[in-house]
Amino acid sequence: MRIAIVGGGATGALAAIHVARRLSGQIGEIVVFEPNETIGRGLAYSTTDPRHLLNVRVSNMSAFPDEPQHLYEWLKARGGACPTPFCFISRGLYGEYLGALAGEARASGAVRHVRDACIDITEDRRAVTLRLESGGAFEADHVILATGNDAKPAVSGFPAEQPWASGSLDGLAQNAPILVIGSGLTMVDMAMSLDRRGHRGRVVAVSRRGLLPSAHRETVLRAVDAGDIPFGADLSKLVGRLRALAARFVSEGADWRSAVDALRPHTQRLWREMSPDQKRRFLRHGRAYWDVHRHRMAPEIEQALGKLMGDGRLTVIAGRVLEVRQEGERLRVRMLRRGAREAKEDVFARIIDCTGLADDPLKTSNPLLRALFARGLLRPDALGIGIDVADTFAIVGADGARSRRIRVVGPLARAAFWECIAIPDIRIQCRQVAEALADAS
Ligand SMILES: Cc1cc2nc3c(=O)[nH]c(=O)nc-3n(C[C@H](O)[C@H](O)[C@H](O)COP(=O)(O)OP(=O)(O)OC[C@H]3O[C@@H](n4cnc5c(N)ncnc54)[C@H](O)[C@@H]3O)c2cc1C
Repeated sequence: MRIAIVGGGATGALAAIHVARRLSGQIGEIVVFEPNETIGRGLAYSTTDPRHLLNVRVSNMSAFPDEPQHLYEWLKARGGACPTPFCFISRGLYGEYLGALAGEARASGAVRHVRDACIDITEDRRAVTLRLESGGAFEADHVILATGNDAKPAVSGFPAEQPWASGSLDGLAQNAPILVIGSGLTMVDMAMSLDRRGHRGRVVAVSRRGLLPSAHRETVLRAVDAGDIPFGADLSKLVGRLRALAARFVSEGADWRSAVDALRPHTQRLWREMSPDQKRRFLRHGRAYWDVHRHRMAPEIEQALGKLMGDGRLTVIAGRVLEVRQEGERLRVRMLRRGAREAKEDVFARIIDCTGLADDPLKTSNPLLRALFARGLLRPDALGIGIDVADTFAIVGADGARSRRIRVVGPLARAAFWECIAIPDIRIQCRQVAEALADAS
């Protein structure tokens, strides 16, 4: 059996590692198509800034869900870097870990990396054929799409830098005032990078609610039984149940974080059993609050951020940007604070757009996804925030039919599963896809 994996970021690497493990000896070839030189890094783990830490503790970042100590042991074997499983290593080091595992799979001959992009796929009863940017073609029995995070169009047409574009922080004067749109984990990364580069000017972060991510604490792991979760219930009932759970855990000496973490094994089902209308309500009213409780920063980053705020170098405000005017080198920005009647003006040297990743699938800049939409092999999900994917990970075409040979894992499947953008969930998806391929072999 020949398996093609499109995309060699963290998801593509994990898919290759899991498929190689599960089907070792049974499989002809696993080929990862990734134009970049390395496999396993992608957008999140390519950073070389040591202050970009994982926002998940080491004990939850093993490549293998059934071997939680795997990453910790790998770090110990290299010597140092992580005194306990409750530590937060740099994202660059994590990229090395995934790269090393992918390297082992390549060295064993199970996995091959082809430095090329896939620009189209056709599927018939017999096989799938991938068309490659270089002009070649590749025939496979199954494809796993792992093209990940899509590039994002500019917010409302403002002249803003994308945080992960190379050079987005280059050429800034030490005291240059910076406006960051968004106050989540990407804003936190940018604040850390600016400080490390010696920037000493004002940084203002603005978001609709002005919420900052919470920080991790060493919590007790608690479980919640599926029978205690009102799947399909109205959003307000779900929020009420979560609050009650957090209050119970706190009264028992645990932490609210244990309640959020205890929901994690159930969040994909919660999402899938919500109606489109419930999902819309969650995205409008609940998502910002869920995100700051669920996606947390490392305690040492919380401390560094607190210092920046205490020194008056970072200010987080609730509000929105109404207008940006370029005046020579400067950007004059009109902002309305939440609850204020009148907008105020401020002047910045640069704006950085940290509002998150793209979510309109039809605006994708990825040629492969554009080709698959045009071919009718993909269709947007009911909310138009991603692509339609079946619970078996099969892509769903314009006619509603599930593909027999093309599956999706990782952030590209987000509209279908919601919580599948972080490693603890991605690795489980990859293992499940490996199981499905084993059944199909
Ligand atoms: C800044 C940041 C920090 C994060 N921190 C954490 C964390 O601490 N812990 C955690 O669990 N999760 C974290 N995440 C979430 C998660 O780990 C990432 O979203 C995850 O790495 C997704 O990887 P990916 O491979 O799916 O996507 P990407 O990283 O976007 O990689 C996709 C890859 O596919 C390739 N590709 C795309 N199209 C094609 C094509 N047509 N042909 C061939 N190749 C193609 C690209 O070149 C790219 O290498 C973070 C995410 C970000 C963005």
